[in-house]
Amino acid sequence: MGSPAQVVTVRVPAKVNVQLAVGPPRADGFHDLANVFLAVGIHDHVTAAPADALAVTCAGPGSDDVPLDPEANLAARAATLLAALHGIEPAVRLHIDKDIPVAGGMAGGSADAAGALLACDTLWGTATPRPELLKLCAELGSDVPFSLVGGAALGRGRGELLTGLPVSGAFHWVFALAEGGLSTPAVYRECDRLRDAEGVHPPRPEPTPALLDALRDGDAHALAATLANDLETAALSLRPSLAATLAAGAEAGALAGLVSGSGPTCAFLAEDADAAARVAAALRAGGTCRDARATTGPAAGATTIESHA
Ligand code: ATP
Repeated sequence: MGSPAQVVTVRVPAKVNVQLAVGPPRADGFHDLANVFLAVGIHDHVTAAPADALAVTCAGPGSDDVPLDPEANLAARAATLLAALHGIEPAVRLHIDKDIPVAGGMAGGSADAAGALLACDTLWGTATPRPELLKLCAELGSDVPFSLVGGAALGRGRGELLTGLPVSGAFHWVFALAEGGLSTPAVYRECDRLRDAEGVHPPRPEPTPALLDALRDGDAHALAATLANDLETAALSLRPSLAATLAAGAEAGALAGLVSGSGPTCAFLAEDADAAARVAAALRAGGTCRDARATTGPAAGATTIESHA
C-alpha cells in the first residue's frame, strides 16, 4: 500500500461513439456491439475525502437528476466495490462536479464511476493493479472501462472488452446539449422494437475499416463520411425534435453530425477549431438545443489532478 492522501480530485472525460454497431439482443438482455469510443474534452470532476460513512454530493447542470443514494449513484457503487475488494469500509465523501450532460449519451455516470475508483484508490493508498481496476469498471457498467482508459478504443462484447486505437492529432467536435435526457435502456428497447416491426435482422456488429483508418490518419473528412450510430433512428423516434438539431448543425457547416450514443446529445464533426466555433455559435443562436460546446478529442482518460494531505 502507498501512503494515503487526504483529498483526491480526478478529472474524467465524456465520450462520443464515432461508430456504434448494435447486434440483436443477447440472452442476458445486453446487445453485442462494435463500439468505437472517442473521449472528448467535456469533463466531470470527482473528489474523494475521508468521512465516517459513504456520502455523495453533486453539483452542476442536471445534478438534480443524479441519484445521491449510495446504492444508486454509480460513483458511490464504485467506492463500495473497491472497498470490498480490499476488505475495508467505504468511508469516503464523494463530490461530483458535473459538466457531462446527465442521461445525455456521453457516459456521464460511467465517467463518475471510473473517477471514483481512481480517486478512492489513491485516497486509500490501495494501489489496485490496473487490470483489477478494469475488472471492477466492467462490473459497474459497459462504458466504465473506457472512461478509465480514455483516448480512442474499440469496445466489443457489450462494449467492455477494449482494444486501444491509434489516432493522429485531434478532431474538432461540437456537442449540442439537449433539455432533459434519454434513458439508455429505453433507446435500446426502441431500437429492437423498430427492427422487429421492420423485420430487420442486424448482422454481427463489426467496426468499419475506413473509420479506423480515418482515426489513425487524423482525416476529419474521411471520419465524417464513416460516422455511424445504429441507435440514432431509435433516439430520433423517441425524441423527434433532434432532427431539427441535426439539420441546424449541418446547415451551420459541420462536416457531419450524429446522435451521441443513446442521445439526446448531438455531436458534430468540424473541419478545424474556427469551424467548430462557428457551428457552436450557430447552434446556440438557432434555439434547437440548450447549449452548444466546441471541444476536441481524443482526451485523456481518468486523471488525478489534485492529491494532497
Ligand atoms: P451512456 O452514454 O453510458 O449510455 P448516459 O450518458 O446517457 O449513459 P448517464 O449520465 O450515465 O447517461 O445517466 C444515466 C442514469 O444513471 C441517470 O439517469 C441517473 O439516474 C443514473 N446515475 C447514477 N449515478 C449517476 C452519476 N454519478 N451521474 C449521472 N447519472 C447517474
